[in-house]
Amino acid sequence: MAINTKLLIDGKFVSGTGHDEDIFNPATGETITKVAEASIEQVSKAVNAAQRAFTGWSATTPGQRSLLLLKIADAIEADAEAFARLEATNCGKPYAGVLADEIPGVVDCFRFYAGAIRCMTGPVAGEYLEGFTSMIRRDPVGVIASIAPWNYPLMMSAWKIAPAIAAGNTVVLKPSEQTPLTALKFGEILADILPKGVVNIVCGRGESVGQPLVEHPVVRMVSLTGDISTGQKILKIAADTMKRTHLELGGKAPVIVFDDADISAAVEGIRAFGFYNAGQDCTAACRVYVHSKVHDRFVAELAAAVSTIKLGTQDEEGVEMGPLISDRQRNRVASFVERAVSTGHMEVVTGGKMRPGPGFFYEPTVIAGAKHEDEIVRREVFGPVVSVTKFNETQQVIDWANDSDYGLASSIWTKDLGKANRVARQLQYGATWINTHFMLTNEMPHGGMKMSGYGKDLSMYALEDYTVARHVMFAHD
Ligand code: NAD
Repeated sequence: MAINTKLLIDGKFVSGTGHDEDIFNPATGETITKVAEASIEQVSKAVNAAQRAFTGWSATTPGQRSLLLLKIADAIEADAEAFARLEATNCGKPYAGVLADEIPGVVDCFRFYAGAIRCMTGPVAGEYLEGFTSMIRRDPVGVIASIAPWNYPLMMSAWKIAPAIAAGNTVVLKPSEQTPLTALKFGEILADILPKGVVNIVCGRGESVGQPLVEHPVVRMVSLTGDISTGQKILKIAADTMKRTHLELGGKAPVIVFDDADISAAVEGIRAFGFYNAGQDCTAACRVYVHSKVHDRFVAELAAAVSTIKLGTQDEEGVEMGPLISDRQRNRVASFVERAVSTGHMEVVTGGKMRPGPGFFYEPTVIAGAKHEDEIVRREVFGPVVSVTKFNETQQVIDWANDSDYGLASSIWTKDLGKANRVARQLQYGATWINTHFMLTNEMPHGGMKMSGYGKDLSMYALEDYTVARHVMFAHD
């Protein structure tokens, strides 16, 4: 497979002139290729190219942009297997899962915004002062710096690029330094279909490439999916030039299992949604609270179910879970589990070990006996580790669920839909699922509250975030 390692700047593919970054296959630990990061001059060239392209691109009609978004969707779909192969190799994900789950979501994201931008109509114009007519415009913001994480590299690029360019903005995308390969391959499609400079792609680390991109005075908005600490750094830098920010940060999703829940369905749900992408997911079903009446049965069934998750490399028959992204991430996960065990009151009921041999594998792990105050309940592990905590009262579990720095995703498991709705209303989370978890659709918003950030990905709400409401007034005389 030919791998593109070149940056996309002003419609041209150029090698980075900065530091060489090794790109690994996490399932083997071997180097796939090297990608040279952008120099500060190249970051600046990319931003200036996006600025030049903005004048023409923002003047196109929604219908014209829509056609190009549809072409982008078709081109990704036509090359779905190659995209899935590259993503699986660079992230260690099971290939079949990427092909079945992620690529269709990416394609649909472009199709959704191709339609949505044509349906973005304004509120009424009117005479709010005698002799004057007012109207609202929603116009693009300008050059957007889009900074993506390593867990879903192509999907995060799609979530950022599709609404931004649909709305008439131009973009400089910086993928994660660990997983730039599908974004660079995507660059080939973008260069073919879009006018030059509408989307530019620069690679490299946060401090050397991300930071100068955020600092650049011509950038008008920064969209980040990443860690809370990265969001805080970006906010501070953005303050200097008063940039808009769109932040999607971490999560620690509470999963509330009531005593009247369908226990088998809840167990199956957590087996699937706590361990998808090896738990490296900001919405992972990782912080489980179970009613005391069903707690022991639930823990036994969950441990049994999770112990059957098949860990393996990208193409192994029946593989369900791959490795973690890096050895560093695996050590981080292992140290969370070690500290949990060292408290003396928690028990690893399945998993809890690194898998020997090549690759950065860690067993799917369930920890029982966790108390609400424990680190494993409060901090994002971003790995295949689920904690279980016992509760007795509904109000107690609502308070515990909300007593968190995070506010991204949550779920409630019960057969009583009245109770589910009462609890859902009180949860301070961007998403609450009832009798399911993790399911996303391009029509519905995704984003957090509290330190999980703000700004919505997906849906019409992202189009609002990537546009500015403006007032235009006509004097009648
Ligand atoms: P990270 O914050 O380390 O990196 C994210 C991106 O920011 C990378 O491209 C990185 O190079 C860049 N970056 C880092 N420092 C920077 C700086 N000073 N200036 C500019 N850019 C900088 O996060 P990660 O480790 O790649 O991803 C994992 C994190 O992302 C987790 O905390 C996870 O919860 C979060 N996440 C959130 C969502 C969501 O939708 N809320 C989705 C996926 C991941």
